[in-house]
Amino acid sequence: MLAYRHAFHAGNHADVLKHLVLTRVLRYMGEKDKPYTLIDTHAGAGGYSVEGRYAQKNAEYAGGIAKLYDDKDLPAPLADYVSLVRAFNPDGQLRQYPGSPAIANFVLREADRLRAYELHPTDHRILASYLEARPNTQVSDRDGFASIKAELPSPTRRAALLMDPPYEIKTDYAKVLAALREALERAPDTVAMVWYPQLQLLESTQLAQRLKASADALAKKGWLHVRLTVAQADERGFGMMGSGMFIANPPFTLHDELAECLPLLVERLGQYDGANYVLEQKAV
Ligand code: SAM
Repeated sequence: MLAYRHAFHAGNHADVLKHLVLTRVLRYMGEKDKPYTLIDTHAGAGGYSVEGRYAQKNAEYAGGIAKLYDDKDLPAPLADYVSLVRAFNPDGQLRQYPGSPAIANFVLREADRLRAYELHPTDHRILASYLEARPNTQVSDRDGFASIKAELPSPTRRAALLMDPPYEIKTDYAKVLAALREALERAPDTVAMVWYPQLQLLESTQLAQRLKASADALAKKGWLHVRLTVAQADERGFGMMGSGMFIANPPFTLHDELAECLPLLVERLGQYDGANYVLEQKAV
């Protein structure tokens, strides 16, 4: 049940897309003085060694963050994200990769609230210790999907939500959809981010369409969908081709920021000639 360990995948192309979007959303939310809450329903350990046994197994980071890390000439949104990864590596060498709660820890202000959920006991323990000193922070070992009821609407009113489940069990697709609906019913202006893997699997191919329908009905400020395809499935149809992020109530700046970065991500992270991206939005 809890076989998934993010350490195998830390810093891969999917983390690059996810954390680029997360950084843009948090930066935007930080532009207003009023504090906000970030709810990270599947938070992971907070940070990962890319030199460790897990990360070295398939060296996924080599096809992701490592392709950008030393580039001093990136578009501004990517440069900002890479600067956070660099801040996680004090001696300059890419040794550690920050997970979503670590990125939040860099970007959130003291008064902003962080609610992180992580079921795996080891990752939960590491995360709780990493965030121990951060004010306005709670790290829970309970089910992140079930957190929506407790967390929304948030006392800060302004809230961002990141849902990043492993999808190792197919029920995660239905759960993420139900959780998005619940979040938007409880707080229709929540900036809700959903990551998903691009697989040759019905649940995966239909997810974006379903998320759009929910956001059409419930989100106050529309939605944005971005997908980065870097690889082909194998001859049996297995393997992750890429990943997507769906954002309900996105910052109005997000579309153009991503449009500036995606051609370069296709060029750097693409593993075959057909690598491509999709960027679509419904602005309200
Ligand atoms: N969001 C993290 C990041 O960007 O660095 C990575 C998260 S990883 C893809 C998914 C995590 O969810 C795993 O660490 C797994 O143990 C945890 N998990 C799985 N099911 C969960 C649940 N129902 N509630 C909370 N955490 C869960």
